[in-house]
Amino acid sequence: MRVTVLTYTPEPEKTVAAAARLCYSRIGAMGIMENLTDEKVASFIQKLINSGHMSPLEHVSFTFAVEGVSRTLLAQLTRHRIASYSVQSLRYNNPFEEELSNQDEVQTTCLKAQNRAYLQGFASSGKYIALVGGDIKEDELEEIRKNPPDKIDREYLGHFLRGLFDADGKITDDGFSLSFPEKFHSILSQTPFEFEQKGESLVLSGKKAVDFCLFIYNGLDFVRSLYSREKLANLCKRAPEFFSKIKTQARDYIAQRYYCVLPAEIEKNIDAILTYIAALENSKMAYLEMVKMGVDKEDARYILPMGTCTNLVVTMNARSLYNFFNLRCCERAQSEIRQLARMMLNEVRKIAPNLFKKAGAPCEATGYCPEGAFSCGKYPVRN
Ligand SMILES: Cc1cc2nc3c(=O)[nH]c(=O)nc-3n(C[C@H](O)[C@H](O)[C@H](O)COP(=O)(O)OP(=O)(O)OC[C@H]3O[C@@H](n4cnc5c(N)ncnc54)[C@H](O)[C@@H]3O)c2cc1C
Repeated sequence: MRVTVLTYTPEPEKTVAAAARLCYSRIGAMGIMENLTDEKVASFIQKLINSGHMSPLEHVSFTFAVEGVSRTLLAQLTRHRIASYSVQSLRYNNPFEEELSNQDEVQTTCLKAQNRAYLQGFASSGKYIALVGGDIKEDELEEIRKNPPDKIDREYLGHFLRGLFDADGKITDDGFSLSFPEKFHSILSQTPFEFEQKGESLVLSGKKAVDFCLFIYNGLDFVRSLYSREKLANLCKRAPEFFSKIKTQARDYIAQRYYCVLPAEIEKNIDAILTYIAALENSKMAYLEMVKMGVDKEDARYILPMGTCTNLVVTMNARSLYNFFNLRCCERAQSEIRQLARMMLNEVRKIAPNLFKKAGAPCEATGYCPEGAFSCGKYPVRN
């Protein structure tokens, strides 16, 4: 999500102060503006906000460019009626133009080579794996099982090792360690990682083990690469540092491949992330299939998820912003719109600190929570 203030009423605090002062003055607003010092402006604004006389705040507005938010957020945001909106259309902007014009081909060729390396790695263990697609022949794998290769192409080493790890690597219980049978010494010595010999195993522990995992899952295509979902989930649960990097990888993947956001609560759980990705893939495939059948894109898009991204421009006056921040900076608001509200508040505070000093969740201004049984517990509930 990106939030930028595109434009705003010049001298917003002075404008509000002049409008408020005008009500009690014999001279016009222009004259008042000329005589206002910074101290007077700050003092008027403080009095206005404390007394709840909010209408002078309607004279200044702020226009924001908001990018990379979901359509779920859009539905919530546009409930705020005292605002103006312009929203990127899914009718005129097709996120899957490349796939429809078959430019995805080059990437698919590269993926095939990576998956081939994975299968070779798996077969090097001597174990069997169910073949997916036609990237490698069974008799070639059989030959690898009998005579595992000594040298691996550097470009595909990570994918090869992921295959080997899924087949024969172990995650051990003491802290975070990985181990391989010592027979893979010559292959593992081609990596930048120095394995320790422990009995009949080669072991990597702590940060070195995390770095090794990052190496073998680097550039993972969550849908089209070969990997053991169970093993990836196990690694994420045991090594927070690794999970944090995988989350970033998944977020970028989801944005790029599905033009979608990864919601905060889904992001906390690797199984949920993988389930979310699988559902996004189904919806994307159904969309592409219908468009290729000749269904108009504006109807085919009904299958796209509510997590699909959009960009928008929103303008609100300062009074409406107060109401928006009041409702949406609160912990009770859903995570994405809460993040947006907090980012917008941050931006306007840089421009007009006095005006937005008391803006935000109601508890921040009053020290009490008005949400009763729904309170997040940060502040005492008002009876
Ligand atoms: C935590 C949370 C949960 C929510 N859950 C739901 C839900 O389950 N279902 C749902 O439908 N919505 C839900 N909403 C949306 C909510 O009901 C409001 O529609 C939304 O927050 C916009 O607020 P607003 O009307 O104050 O803003 P605006 O539309 O910007 O209005 C600003 C203010 O102008 C005044 N105003 C505007 N229009 C009128 C009018 N026609 N008559 C009189 N006064 C008016 C009101 O004082 C209003 O507060 C939820 C919001 C939050 C923050």
